[in-house]
Amino acid sequence: MAEKVPLQTLRSDSFLLSIIVPTYNEEEVLPEMYQRTISVIDNIDADVELIFVNDGSSDETLTILTQLHATDSRISIIDLSRNFGKEIAMTAGLDYSCGDAVVLIDADLQDPPELIPQMIDEWQAGFDVVYAQRTSRAGETAVKKATSHLFYRLMKYISQEQIPADTGDFRLLSRRAVNALLKLREQHRFMKGLFSWIGFPQKSIPYQRDARFSGNSKWNYIRLWNFALEGITSFSTLPLKISTYLGVTTALGAFLYGIFILFDTLLIGNPVPGYPSLLVVVLFLGGIQLIALGVIGEYLGRMFLETKNRPLYLIKGYEPSKFSVENG
Ligand code: UDP
Ligand code: MG
Repeated sequence: MAEKVPLQTLRSDSFLLSIIVPTYNEEEVLPEMYQRTISVIDNIDADVELIFVNDGSSDETLTILTQLHATDSRISIIDLSRNFGKEIAMTAGLDYSCGDAVVLIDADLQDPPELIPQMIDEWQAGFDVVYAQRTSRAGETAVKKATSHLFYRLMKYISQEQIPADTGDFRLLSRRAVNALLKLREQHRFMKGLFSWIGFPQKSIPYQRDARFSGNSKWNYIRLWNFALEGITSFSTLPLKISTYLGVTTALGAFLYGIFILFDTLLIGNPVPGYPSLLVVVLFLGGIQLIALGVIGEYLGRMFLETKNRPLYLIKGYEPSKFSVENG
């Protein structure tokens, strides 16, 4: 990656940093998360706003946030009307952020806030996207590590954008990167892909991923599978191509087999060949057709949802910070 990027104007020392925290049922971690984040940002020579997005939590998350907001005017709360999922919660936070730089961070302390000053340094050196890259993931099962590894490698091969491996959403974005990201209003938001799609100078910072501080991960395997499907279908049409080639190969095979039967019957004089082989071929073709239809369906379904053009999220309540500029 290029060392320095001169395109950007030099920033003055004082700037506003927005930290966006999507929260969904995080009552157990929030107080600790707030403390740790505060002790980091108190040492940063800048204004900092903390944007908490309450993603339809059913526990005391909102109560805790409201208490924090009452004592700290740097906090703003976006209360979504229901659970929309992390990707959309982050988008809501980005919509409402006004910082010169924006940090996206998980509430569960798996992303160490202590990394933020280092991110700011890289941003001030001219990088628009500074993402944290995991060198280890504590507290996660071997199966999860393996599937996640496989997913990133797969994405690398099938999508045009280079999506960095072992990278979560924990990152710093410059204002122009945020503005670019906000132009992408698709319903199916595979953020990792979108971060790469916008381009701009990007830089990685290695870190050790801690185990969740408390509570449980909201991701089960069905959710992760859907997430992977989302990633693949949002950023690649390769599955559609595979069905085409599969179809062509099968048709070609059938054609050659047809010729073989013709000669077999005419020259060697074999009687009508077996019924079982016929059944196998019919079933095989039926299966392939259904798979291809399913693949098309995945894309068509997404187009269907996309054409409705619904708003990405709805907001139930909003508590601005002292830095907020109302834009809702
Ligand atoms: N999260 C959210 N909405 C959801 C699920 C999760 O805002 O529907 C938030 C959650 O509160 C946390 C972050 O997204 O701050 C990451 O969630 P989690 O720790 O469950 O994911 P993992 O670390 O296992 O990828
Ligand atoms: Mg987590």
